[in-house]
Amino acid sequence: MDEKQVMAVDLGGTNIRVAVISGDGDIAHRTRVATHAEEGPKAVIERIGTLVNRVAKMAGLDSDVPVGVASPGPLNPRTGVVHYTPNLPGWRDVPFVEILTSLIDHPATLANDGNCGALGEARFGSAKGVQNLVYLALGTGIGGGIISEGVLIDGKNGLGAEVGHITIALDGSRCTCGSVGCLESFASGWAIQRDAEAIATTEDGDLLRELAGDGEIHAGIVAEAARQGDPAACQVLDRAGRALGAAMGSFVNLFDPEMIVIGGGVAALGDLLMAPARSALPTHSFVDMRGSLDLAYSSLGDDTGLYGAAALAFTVFGERA
Ligand SMILES: [Zn+2]
Repeated sequence: MDEKQVMAVDLGGTNIRVAVISGDGDIAHRTRVATHAEEGPKAVIERIGTLVNRVAKMAGLDSDVPVGVASPGPLNPRTGVVHYTPNLPGWRDVPFVEILTSLIDHPATLANDGNCGALGEARFGSAKGVQNLVYLALGTGIGGGIISEGVLIDGKNGLGAEVGHITIALDGSRCTCGSVGCLESFASGWAIQRDAEAIATTEDGDLLRELAGDGEIHAGIVAEAARQGDPAACQVLDRAGRALGAAMGSFVNLFDPEMIVIGGGVAALGDLLMAPARSALPTHSFVDMRGSLDLAYSSLGDDTGLYGAAALAFTVFGERA
């Protein structure tokens, strides 16, 4: 049994989640509070500090037990500064780690949720023990991370690897990042919804409109229509899946991974997305990886952020944990 422990903070959703996680992946003292992002960065970080102190006290942790934080980015893990986050309004160049460590007795480190996810999968999840890994988090947007020979590849300032924003099409549609033709603009939740809503304005979109009722035509609606054999829905998911396959082909060419792990809510589409992705992949990879590349789904589910934050703390603070 691995008795080393860290504290993990997941800042990913509308809640702040904190837990104590052991080297074996046992989760204890799991706690959450509403983020209240509208109150601004200082109030949110103070809330995190209070929660960390409470959990540390409950668990009886010494002050050398480190804290890992998984946060939406872009952020600089070297300096602990969050440059900007789409889901937390008013966050601009916030010295997150500096503020947090002034409120707690523990060392702390921060990384973006995609990179944390890659570390979490490699330490606790589907890619446990895998040294060469590409992790793709398919959600409303697309994040992820890359581990090569056991080392997280995140560049000079830790701003890599924005795997959702590699270019799939030179003349593609506009992405949330300002670029055009990114993977995210093809295969994310918002892109699938955009394509489905466009079709829903035509007679081909009868079933999509019917299933959505008064609601949005989100990826789950598209999946339901596709399962009923709706050609328009199948077409939307086929296009998204082929874009995903093309991106995976590029990752194969660049990183020669043993495994690509697919996580995030859109991964629930399963083979509706992954079948076209799998069949497109060899077309877009220089080396035929069939037979030597594993495609796996994340096994960490809703706890990806917590496990990722814990894996980050173990990685950064190592044996001090
Ligand atoms: Zn983009």
